[in-house]
Amino acid sequence: MAVVTRFAPSPTGRLHVGNIRTALHNWMLARKHGGRFMLRIDDTDAQRSEDRFVDAIREDLGWLGLAPDGEERQSRRLALYEAAFERLREAGRIYPAYETQQELELRRKVLMGRGLPPIYDRAALTLTDADRAAKEAGGIAPHWRFRLDHDEPIAWDDGVRGAQKFDAAQLSDPVVRRADNSWLYMLPSAVDDIAMGVTHVLRGEDHVSNTAVQIQMFTALGAAPPRFAHEALLVGSEGKLSKRLGSLGCDALREAGLEPEALVALLARLGTSLPVEPVADRAVLLESFDLATFGRAPARFDEAELERVNAAIVHAMDYGDVAGRLPAGMNAAAWHAIRPNLSRVNEVGEWWRLVTGPVDLPQFDAETREYLGLAARELAWSETPWADLTAALKARTGRKSKALFLPLRQALTGRDHGPDMGELLPLIGEERARRRLERAATANG
Ligand code: GLU
Repeated sequence: MAVVTRFAPSPTGRLHVGNIRTALHNWMLARKHGGRFMLRIDDTDAQRSEDRFVDAIREDLGWLGLAPDGEERQSRRLALYEAAFERLREAGRIYPAYETQQELELRRKVLMGRGLPPIYDRAALTLTDADRAAKEAGGIAPHWRFRLDHDEPIAWDDGVRGAQKFDAAQLSDPVVRRADNSWLYMLPSAVDDIAMGVTHVLRGEDHVSNTAVQIQMFTALGAAPPRFAHEALLVGSEGKLSKRLGSLGCDALREAGLEPEALVALLARLGTSLPVEPVADRAVLLESFDLATFGRAPARFDEAELERVNAAIVHAMDYGDVAGRLPAGMNAAAWHAIRPNLSRVNEVGEWWRLVTGPVDLPQFDAETREYLGLAARELAWSETPWADLTAALKARTGRKSKALFLPLRQALTGRDHGPDMGELLPLIGEERARRRLERAATANG
């Protein structure tokens, strides 16, 4: 049986790291088994869903390299839900209820006050036809609940959490449809998972109790439930996922100059027993992907770790990977020289200006100015101008290490550190280099 997974976001905002992680793991699960990864847009909530977020989700998945193999949109599938609803209603698995929010809230409080679990008491099941007719004549439209089968044990072997068991009698019959006929998440999702042939549902552990209920929906609809796996939630390094990068949308991460491969490398293994490594090759990540490595403890998203992974990935990127994002004139040699100094590719312009100038000179004392004047005269052009220059100056002045190198670097780049001078000087070029050295030698400190 071919594996089919799905990522089912609600288009109510941009994807953030938590969603990206879920999408990635579903993509990996499908890819690993040569299966299909589907995008399902959960937009039954017409009020909160927006087309611009649907576009954004597609764009974000594209940028992340997680393009789906197919897409469905719940708002276009309402007829399917209607049909399933009718079937379940005829089978006595869906029933109308008339309580108001306040009534339900009050009952919940009473139960909790007595130390009992706040389970819906199924009062609506005891209504007679006449009771219902009276409610409706009084202008109260029903909402609809799915009747759980209290005799049917609920159990599944969770891909992350292992054996799971629920007692249906300890769960409330879930509301599947509101009084205005709009759908809640639970039933359409089960209907779609069946219709789309989803074999593996991998989602956050906040859905565990939904799974218990949905397993009975699958059965009631005559389908075998898919395999379920619930991953531990992603939290920030100090608890909540709300700080800086952790709360940012995918667009903001992209604008901040982070590489999709850094997010992928980090999120692929965060919360697993595998080490987080700056692996840009997805085949390597796929090779080691295994739900059995997923831990039960919350996965900690640490933005410093993301920055580290990003920097390491940038340091290994080839010119061909970034050429289109570099300032005009920057060639492979320039990329190679500057690359080790970058945490993010978008810092490249700053370093490239050391080549193109102008550079800001520090204040040099008279002795250093004299040394730099000598350097301007000694500068000779070859394949290895830096090695030649420093060898000549060492011989002429007896200077070594910092005293030899630092004034030259400062005069040539305006900085105390930066790219390897052996690589940088050929990029600066003879004429510019000599002018910079001469200017530094004559500038009055
Ligand atoms: N739209 C639901 C959510 O974002 C989908 C959950 C699921 O994967 O079934 O929570």
